[in-house]
Amino acid sequence: MKRANRWTDIAKQITRTGAGADLFVPASRLTTYRLGGPVALVVSITKAEQAIALGSCISDDVNVIVIGNGSNILISDNGYEGVAVVLNLPDDETMTSVVESTGTTALIDAAANIRLPLLARRTAALGWSGLEWAVGVPGSLGGAVRMNAGGHGSDMASTLLDAELINLRNGHTARIASQNLGLRFRGSAMADEMCIVSARCQVTRGNVEKSQKEIAAIVAWRREHQPGGQNAGSVFVNPAKTTSSAGALIDEAGLRGTRHGTAEISQKHANFIQADENTSAADVVALMCEAQDVVFARTGVMMHSEIRLLGFAPEISARFQDRHRVEPEVVRAEEMLKSLL
Ligand SMILES: Cc1cc2nc3c(=O)[nH]c(=O)nc-3n(C[C@H](O)[C@H](O)[C@H](O)COP(=O)(O)OP(=O)(O)OC[C@H]3O[C@@H](n4cnc5c(N)ncnc54)[C@H](O)[C@@H]3O)c2cc1C
Repeated sequence: MKRANRWTDIAKQITRTGAGADLFVPASRLTTYRLGGPVALVVSITKAEQAIALGSCISDDVNVIVIGNGSNILISDNGYEGVAVVLNLPDDETMTSVVESTGTTALIDAAANIRLPLLARRTAALGWSGLEWAVGVPGSLGGAVRMNAGGHGSDMASTLLDAELINLRNGHTARIASQNLGLRFRGSAMADEMCIVSARCQVTRGNVEKSQKEIAAIVAWRREHQPGGQNAGSVFVNPAKTTSSAGALIDEAGLRGTRHGTAEISQKHANFIQADENTSAADVVALMCEAQDVVFARTGVMMHSEIRLLGFAPEISARFQDRHRVEPEVVRAEEMLKSLL
């Protein structure tokens, strides 16, 4: 079957579930890098049941991934040959609720597509503390759980109680406790077909004014230290076996401000690669290769990527792959999670 016909066929089946299905969507609409080629099929989910029903439409040979706010993803210039599931669960006050409260602690239950800054501000305004750090991370709650996002001395693992997951290949659902998600530094045991639809965070009784001050300080710090515009935050994970951060290693190698085409290693933060309107994904990857090579030659430290690369040649993906994924405890966590879904 011709490529376009095949995707049209899958799209037809998917629309019967009530989900939206759009063919060959420019990746620039889906990520904060705002670049890259077409994504073969973008599926928009407005009810969890639609995600469950996808199981009967997505065969094993079809790539599938969830895209949240796309703030940690780089899609190649050739695009992504697969299904990208986007959650569009109702975006109103019902997205967050305090489900249990003992007076001093509470559970905040939120839909996975809520933006972290909104979740942080809403939680603080309700007088609960523990998610203030999240105001500076421009992702969705689902993406933050999957990546164990963090900053300012905290991370998702510190507050997450559990998450509601759907396996997009078989429609199985389960509420998985945080300790079974294999959360590690900027990663987890979740496979691409696992879709988080909601998550519950444990927060403690706080003080609205104090939390809001903390939030304002974090926002000011970010403005001062991180660039705006088209990027996906830190490109490389901080190496485990060195005291220097990835940004410091790149900086010490004299690479701050290095350009390739229209992409640039940020002048403001050396672990950010900035794109502009006409930047290609290839330019960003060329800078990633240069930073990885130069830092390795200088220090012997091999940096791997924090951002997810989609649609690239296997040698590029392998070059930047998160090397923790081969560690025995990470492999065990992945197998254990698969067995639950
Ligand atoms: C300016 C800037 C600053 C940043 N600062 C930080 C920081 O301080 N700390 C930090 O940790 N990160 C930071 N990031 C990176 C990014 O915001 C986080 O990793 C964020 O958690 C990603 O969320 P997302 O919704 O954008 O995920 P996406 O980029 O859409 O996806 C990232 C991964 O999560 C998966 N995913 C997304 N949604 C779901 C879901 N519902 N279910 C299952 N899997 C899902 C995707 O498949 C992919 O594997 C920054 C990014 C930018 C642009």
